[in-house]
Amino acid sequence: MISEAELLAAVPNQLFIGGRWVESSSGRRLDVHDPATGAVIKSIADANEADASRAMDAAANAQAEWGRTAPRSRSDLLRSAFDLLHERAEEFALLMTLEMGKPLDASRGEVVYGGEFLRWFSEEAVRVAGRYGSNQEGTGRMLVTQLPVGPCYLITPWNFPLAMATRKVAPALAAGCTVILKPAALTPLTTLYFAKLLGEVGLPVGVLNVLTTSASADVSAPIIADPRLRKLSFTGSTAVGRQLLAQAAPSVLRTSMELGGNAPFLVFEDADLDRAVDAAMIAKFRNIGQACTAANRFIVHESVAEQFAQRVTEKVQAFRVGRGTEAGVDIGPLINEDAVLKVESLVDDAVARGASVLTGGARIAGAGTFYEPTVVTEVAAGSDILATEIFGPVLSISTFSDEADAVAKANDTDFGLVSYAFTQDLARAQRLVESLQTGMLGLNVGVVSNAAAPFGGVKQSGLGREGGLEGIREYLDTKYVLTPNPFA
Ligand code: NAD
Repeated sequence: MISEAELLAAVPNQLFIGGRWVESSSGRRLDVHDPATGAVIKSIADANEADASRAMDAAANAQAEWGRTAPRSRSDLLRSAFDLLHERAEEFALLMTLEMGKPLDASRGEVVYGGEFLRWFSEEAVRVAGRYGSNQEGTGRMLVTQLPVGPCYLITPWNFPLAMATRKVAPALAAGCTVILKPAALTPLTTLYFAKLLGEVGLPVGVLNVLTTSASADVSAPIIADPRLRKLSFTGSTAVGRQLLAQAAPSVLRTSMELGGNAPFLVFEDADLDRAVDAAMIAKFRNIGQACTAANRFIVHESVAEQFAQRVTEKVQAFRVGRGTEAGVDIGPLINEDAVLKVESLVDDAVARGASVLTGGARIAGAGTFYEPTVVTEVAAGSDILATEIFGPVLSISTFSDEADAVAKANDTDFGLVSYAFTQDLARAQRLVESLQTGMLGLNVGVVSNAAAPFGGVKQSGLGREGGLEGIREYLDTKYVLTPNPFA
């Protein structure tokens, strides 16, 4: 097995532009930290506007040829990337744990999940269909075809360093689009290592370009304003998504937005409580609570709330906290100091408004940015924790009295990414499918993500879908052609 030092040395430390690893014209370096220790693990190039312009040139120059490659070639390339990723699964897993903090097993899970987008879209690349037929009047023949949108700018967050990249890059490449990929400054190493892998499997020059930068807004603005850019796909916070939508408006750029969530987790009085408790652990604590799909508000029927709280508390007390590289660790550090301060303030506010802490409730002293796995119950309406994405290992419980109350509380948010509901009543489940304002629903399950599924939200959780049959359409334009009836 590769050592941490060998792995970090193998990760490129420059920008990837036009098929070459190059220094930034800024001359600046960007330090990447291990959140479990606070130590700098690598310094990499820190791109500026001039680099953005070089990346835009490279993506634009490569577009025409890449868009005309045989779909089977694009498919084979993505499939080779999938295979090589799996050969290097342990390396990618360790790298994610080092720069992001999640336990090694969770990183391994992300390699599997993230890799599936390469395999899924290698299969979709050769299935982009069109149609041919008569118009209604019979006077003409209608041809509908789908063509690559063109150069895309892809911006990803830090919480799933591999999967958020593959979920965009794979469909874009499958569709025949060239891309500029900008990872989060906190976790850029996985993206650089992934770009290296794509180079090794033969991705042509300029098809993928990577900009790592501490100046995201400065680097992104000229790319978004460039008339050669045809598509912006962003995963991150709703606040930044709103700004990017405004920047995309002048050129009416096509956009996909995977934004924040505030997932309700409803437990009805008829739920299978064993199942609900197990699912709660995954829905809440996967990725140390730092997932857009993390259950944010546990809303439990008042008749089972106490029992549910007690049972989840027992499980949370058994969690082992530590550096993600250590065996048996369930909960790693939060990404940085700001994340700890945010979680602290949300828990403090809930307690000030009457909530009880059943376990945890404080940061962990010492190196790294750790917060105790926590359960708070009797959270009062109006508490900040109900309106804000916690993004940490805090399970917050409030109650409802009947189904109408549950649905009203679940929908009482500007977000609508995912919801979870636990009930054994089929008619109720069917009502929930229709009445919950959500892009995705986990019905008696605690994880919904899957490469074959359309991932995305309603309301302020975003626009568009990633994965599934829908995922590749985000990177295709529909063109319709009319010809005369050849027999007329
Ligand atoms: P963020 O919005 O701070 O950053 C996301 C990305 O945008 C990063 O690459 C960042 O460098 C970049 N960025 C920040 N400001 C920018 C600007 N002005 N112009 C251009 N780029 C800019 O979000 P984050 O803290 O990295 O990620 C957490 C958020 O992402 C949470 O809200 C979470 O719910 C959301 N998220 C959503 C999904 C989804 O699929 N819906 C998936 C994962 C994370």
